[in-house]
Amino acid sequence: MAGINTFICGPCSAESEEQVLRTAEALNLIFRPDGTRYVTAFRAGLWKPRTHPGAFEGVGEKGIPWMVRVRKELGMKVIVEVANPAHLESVLKAGLDMIWIGSRTTTNPFAMQDLADALKGVDIPVYIKNPINPDVELWIGAFERFQRAGIRQLAAIHRGFSFYEKSKYRNVPKWQVPIDLKQRFGDIPLLCDASHIAGKREYIPEISQKAMDLGFDGLFIESHINPDAALSDARQQLTPSAAESLIKGLIIRDVNSENTDYLAAIEHLRAHIDVIDDNLLDLLSTRMEIVDKIGRYKRDNNITILQQHRWEEVLNKVVAEGVKKGLDESFIQELFKLIHQASIERQS
Ligand code: PEP
Ligand code: MN
Repeated sequence: MAGINTFICGPCSAESEEQVLRTAEALNLIFRPDGTRYVTAFRAGLWKPRTHPGAFEGVGEKGIPWMVRVRKELGMKVIVEVANPAHLESVLKAGLDMIWIGSRTTTNPFAMQDLADALKGVDIPVYIKNPINPDVELWIGAFERFQRAGIRQLAAIHRGFSFYEKSKYRNVPKWQVPIDLKQRFGDIPLLCDASHIAGKREYIPEISQKAMDLGFDGLFIESHINPDAALSDARQQLTPSAAESLIKGLIIRDVNSENTDYLAAIEHLRAHIDVIDDNLLDLLSTRMEIVDKIGRYKRDNNITILQQHRWEEVLNKVVAEGVKKGLDESFIQELFKLIHQASIERQS
């Protein structure tokens, strides 16, 4: 089961017996200074959920014996994605160690219930990726279905969220969502799938380090013996030696420290933050009082609540001012949209 510094690595897709074994062998040779292995399990997708039909949809059942060879010959634990009870049955029959549920599957409560029902009485670790959309309740609901089916070894994989808007990364991390999950289910280990967030291999290290800084328990990384020739997700896969540099380059921080200088400095800064938070709340509450007054005037004069022109003016002004003050543009936009929405609701 996952724990601090769990590294699950392997190709996006199993493509051939040779590709699977050569990748696994190389990943199995990444050692910690104490001689233990870094890679705790070998991943490969057999059934691939692709956006368009006709893309490489995985080798399916045919790849099962390849994963069995990795287990038997290299002694590695192996994990594959399952999306329905038929996949699960093949995996259990072959005695593979663990399963993960893909993002598109987590989004569908019917599919999740079918899998939970099929898993009743089976004690196998299950890793659940976040749903495609940033809905922490849907993610939690997935955990609840498995918990009700008696599955105890559960872990979460954060792989980012899909949006229409273009962004730097393939999937937007929205780190607050996995943090919320962790708050609600503190005992569930949390891994970061930096590959699927990144979309491009050059972004994988910064995302991985961020996950470590946020106290994630490990990483889920795509690695292929020859990434450029990969049949799926070629741009985001690392060679095993790049995976080794990534893992060895991570700065793993302590959750807590005994150092008294550090503790004093942090305490001071936190006290400062608490005061600022209080001030923010006071300001928001004063703002709402004024919003209420405006609402009353509008009602008395029979004017609509939303005045598009005024709102656009406000938004443009705060974004410009915020950017001048070194704040992120999309942060200011989202923050003020929330404030504006709450104001409209109060006036309604
Ligand atoms: C994968 O891990 O290969 C995969 C298909 O991921 P996701 O479900 O996150 O898209
Ligand atoms: Mn992939």
